[in-house]
Amino acid sequence: MKTILINGQWLAAHDERLIDVDEPSTGKVFTQVSRGGEWEVNAAVQSARQALNSNWGRFTAAERGRLLLRIGNRILQQAKEIAQIESRDTGKPLHLAERDIVVLARYFEYYGAAADKHHGEVIPYLNGYTVNVVHEPLGVTGHIIPWNYPSQMFGRTACPALAAGNAIVLKPSEEACQSVLYIATLMMEEGLPDGALNIVTGFGHEAGAALTGHPDINLVTFTGSPGVGALVQQATAANHVPCVLELGGKSPQIVFADADLDKAVPAIVSALVQNTGQTCSAGTRLLIQREIYDEVVSRVAARFESIRAGMPDSGADCGPIITRAQFERVQAFIHRLHESGLPLLAAGKLDGIEPGGFFVPPMLFGPVPRDHELATAEVFGPVLAAMPFEDEADAIELANATEYGLVAAVWTENGARQQRMARSVVAGQVYINCYGAGGGVELPFGGRKKSGYGREKGFIALDEFTTTKTIVNCFE
Ligand code: NAD
Repeated sequence: MKTILINGQWLAAHDERLIDVDEPSTGKVFTQVSRGGEWEVNAAVQSARQALNSNWGRFTAAERGRLLLRIGNRILQQAKEIAQIESRDTGKPLHLAERDIVVLARYFEYYGAAADKHHGEVIPYLNGYTVNVVHEPLGVTGHIIPWNYPSQMFGRTACPALAAGNAIVLKPSEEACQSVLYIATLMMEEGLPDGALNIVTGFGHEAGAALTGHPDINLVTFTGSPGVGALVQQATAANHVPCVLELGGKSPQIVFADADLDKAVPAIVSALVQNTGQTCSAGTRLLIQREIYDEVVSRVAARFESIRAGMPDSGADCGPIITRAQFERVQAFIHRLHESGLPLLAAGKLDGIEPGGFFVPPMLFGPVPRDHELATAEVFGPVLAAMPFEDEADAIELANATEYGLVAAVWTENGARQQRMARSVVAGQVYINCYGAGGGVELPFGGRKKSGYGREKGFIALDEFTTTKTIVNCFE
């Protein structure tokens, strides 16, 4: 099995070791990936460095942009195949995987169009001087992505890096990377020079650790859990290398008594159920003003009862948990919730599933006490925690009462309150009377507190993948 891409060649691990990959909807091994480690990471970093010093390094910004646009177009042409690969590998319903591939293509389109528009500045300075601030690529960038949205995560991190002129070494999740490997093949077929994109499949503690600690990497972007994020920070600090961390979340949906519930309730349910709760920006805390608590909870519960978790090709609302380890973690979490006597208000149905698959139905618990584990800890599964609040001040305190600060939503018809809440909640994105877990290629995205730092998505991401040089020219 050759799943390691170095200098344009697909390779096996040098010692031929492999990792078994489970199919989440059956729990059976369905493929393998190469188990790369330090040896492969060294070769991949060298290949990326060579690409910068040769063909890829000579591409103009316009040429890089044109290439990304062409790849985006190719992805749209082959969207059905890629979605099928993604759906089998992650277990997510085919209709959701199809949507993910459209978002993937958008990353190529957006950063392809942006590549030659990341202008520098001219700064007024002393008489007789011209000062230019130019953007330069950082060099070789290291990228580590998780298993929940493999193709979207790939587009989100690889497209701005390539648009800015870097050469990449990427370690996808060993648990779900089939779509990423397929996309890389398409990129090379469309003319991406050898070495501009290198991929090392393997375990996090082997290939991932080798990449984050490599002395010839100029930036590491990491999307994953806060615990591993801290390890990435330590490893990059040792080499004085910057990092971008996109970590976990426990995002609040804050519903005031004057909210339009016909609009709010479906959005709240789908933001949790989407990808079976395995979305960093899922709205997992449902904070409801006390006077409408019962009404909101009963309307959300009714919707939960109609949700179907099933096989990826069955048209179900959601699929299984993507990895065996996470499935076991989520089950243990739910077991603790039952043991603690927390009321289960509603659950979705498992429909036509295969025994052995990693299925968990969506569940609504409430009222969750503020000091309960579920009030603050990320489950990364389909579990929604309902909690009452009294007034605006209490809503702000409760919304900010976790270690995370990724996304928040405020549901209210009061315009002044919308603004006050948006300014008071600690988060990288705040939605008012809407929610956007995962979408919005154009929208800067990232965390505060333990949700991480640095920004991906949007034009601003190009700043993360470049550095500035100030050129001071005295012409008198
Ligand atoms: P994880 O941290 O276990 O793994 C993420 C990636 O890091 C994988 O590729 C893994 O192989 C690698 N890795 C593991 N150990 C490593 C090490 N020691 N050094 C370097 N790399 C290592 O996370 P996960 O379980 O795959 O994903 C779930 C977590 O990711 C959740 O906390 C979720 O909220 C978060 N997440 C965040 C975002 C975001 O944009 N903020 C998006 C998706 C997921």
